[in-house]
Amino acid sequence: MAFYVVTGGAGFIGSHTVEELVRRGESVRVLDDLSTGKKANLASVIDRIDLREGDIRDLEAMRPLFEGVDYVIHFAAASSVLRSIREPIETTEVNLMGTLNVLVAARDAQVKRMVMACTGAIYGDNPVLPRVETQMPDPLSPYAIVKLAGEYFGQVFNRLFGLEFVALRYFNIFGPRQNPLSQYSGVLSKFVRAYLTGNTPVIHGTGEQSRDFTYVANVVDATLRACHAPQGPGKVINVGTGKGTTLNHAIQILNQIFSVQVTPQHDPPRVGDFMHSTADITVARTILGYEPIVDFEEGLRRTVEWMRTTLA
Ligand code: NAD
Repeated sequence: MAFYVVTGGAGFIGSHTVEELVRRGESVRVLDDLSTGKKANLASVIDRIDLREGDIRDLEAMRPLFEGVDYVIHFAAASSVLRSIREPIETTEVNLMGTLNVLVAARDAQVKRMVMACTGAIYGDNPVLPRVETQMPDPLSPYAIVKLAGEYFGQVFNRLFGLEFVALRYFNIFGPRQNPLSQYSGVLSKFVRAYLTGNTPVIHGTGEQSRDFTYVANVVDATLRACHAPQGPGKVINVGTGKGTTLNHAIQILNQIFSVQVTPQHDPPRVGDFMHSTADITVARTILGYEPIVDFEEGLRRTVEWMRTTLA
């Protein structure tokens, strides 16, 4: 049994990761300030984990929580692109200074490895697809800038201090527990919510923009592989499905799932948004032995089922 600290473990992706770690019999401590995360997300495992409410901006409070820890999985972040545009200073404090604190605490506690949640948003609107890790980053929002800076810090800690560090660039993750009520929530959750509440789904732009929508179980699998893959340290690795799905196609699938013919409302494109994004997942396949296990349609069905129960 190994000992994991999961920062942001009460959030959407974090809680799925914690559940899987518990299922595998690992020992888990969650550090979360419960700002966007919820204790309820951890309901199924709450009596088998050590949940600590705390802020990654507070290094000294964090240090004791890292003692004796084997692996750190770092999800805690202000996780919205839109919010980062409205609140660039707070996003930078949490996502950059907070990440630096986690790196320092992990280094000083001599953990075996740290894996960090980064983002495909660092590639920006570069027309070259699919996104390969060696492509020049082109961050278009404060969120993407500071996530990229966090990657660089991690790689420098890997080189300078021998802290094993792996950065995973996640591409548009979706699934149960992604908050459909937040103004910052992912586009698929918003679509599903619109279907369930009898409202018209809203698309910003033509709907021909595409994303590499990745069901959360795939991300959990890649993340746990990254904790152990021998070739992982020092690497930056895309995590997606390798396939782009347009928003118009997502609407078609939802029309099938709900057996309706909804026509979406088209609003003007949003500031900071980009047209296409698909991950090249060759490195994940080679280094992590990763292969997506749940495809888009199945993931969407599971998300609809969860939201149906939750919103009821
Ligand atoms: P989320 O908002 O559900 O999870 C973030 C968690 O961090 C929450 O539980 C929140 O309470 C916690 N947190 C925020 N600020 C904190 C602080 N100062 N101290 C301690 N905890 C804090 O978001 P998510 O979608 O689960 O994202 C998890 C990670 O994956 C984030 O780092 C995000 O940037 C990254 N990511 C997500 C996506 C996606 O599509 N969801 C894509 C790329 C990257």
